[in-house]
Amino acid sequence: MAALKALAEAQPELAPAVALEREIVDGERRLQRRLGTPWLDVSNDDLTARLARGERLIEWAQLGIDWPEFRLRLRQVVDVLRRHDILDAADAARLHDIGRDPGLPAIVERWYDEGAHGGPAADTSLTDVLGLTVRPFLTRAAEVVQQRVSTDTWPRGTCPMCGARPGFAVVAAPGVRHLVCGRCHGRWLFDARTCPRCLSSDRQRVFSAHDGVYQVAVCDACKRYVKAIDVKKAGRPLLMSVDTVATLALDQAIAAQGFEAD
Ligand SMILES: [Zn+2]
Ligand SMILES: [Zn+2]
Repeated sequence: MAALKALAEAQPELAPAVALEREIVDGERRLQRRLGTPWLDVSNDDLTARLARGERLIEWAQLGIDWPEFRLRLRQVVDVLRRHDILDAADAARLHDIGRDPGLPAIVERWYDEGAHGGPAADTSLTDVLGLTVRPFLTRAAEVVQQRVSTDTWPRGTCPMCGARPGFAVVAAPGVRHLVCGRCHGRWLFDARTCPRCLSSDRQRVFSAHDGVYQVAVCDACKRYVKAIDVKKAGRPLLMSVDTVATLALDQAIAAQGFEAD
């Protein structure tokens, strides 16, 4: 929260995005205090076997979602996005209806399973709202799983925890990169010179921004990119909320050159 505040003061043009993120994070914290630490009914041996078979570690059913809490959170997320003009009134009303729909659990499970495909979403507002709604439920579970099993040999460009695409990366030393899931914030080691999307190691370029604090790895083969933070140069760990907002202008610049986020 303090880092978000500092970011808005240092870069006033980011203030609207920071204000939105602060409201979201604040709501998540209150919810997580009510939820406590998640319990996943799966042994470490099962987790290791799943990884060896190339299966993600967290299936939706294992999360044991508290649906009244989930529906409440969805309502809050829609209201915050509406207040910040990210959603128009009609879209907000439609999403509130989905939040009340008895079929919501099936809708969310389908979204969770489709998350790894990464293609253009049919309903981007719904995808954005579900991504934010699920975050406080899923990130804690991913943290718990991450502490129980090493994912460093996972060879894929999708998240070993939940199967979604990377949203950021962490560079701890030159050439050592961990991808960070855009959905559950789980991390896994991934070759710094290989594209997580098309797995090509040719036609890869890396350029740096903000005095080397951030790096962008772009793939000229599939036109995707992944942003990273160099934690040595930054002097702090990745703060997903802060670094996502701080690099919005970078995203726009890369998109203008015809690249899409992985
Ligand atoms: Zn994930
Ligand atoms: Zn690629």
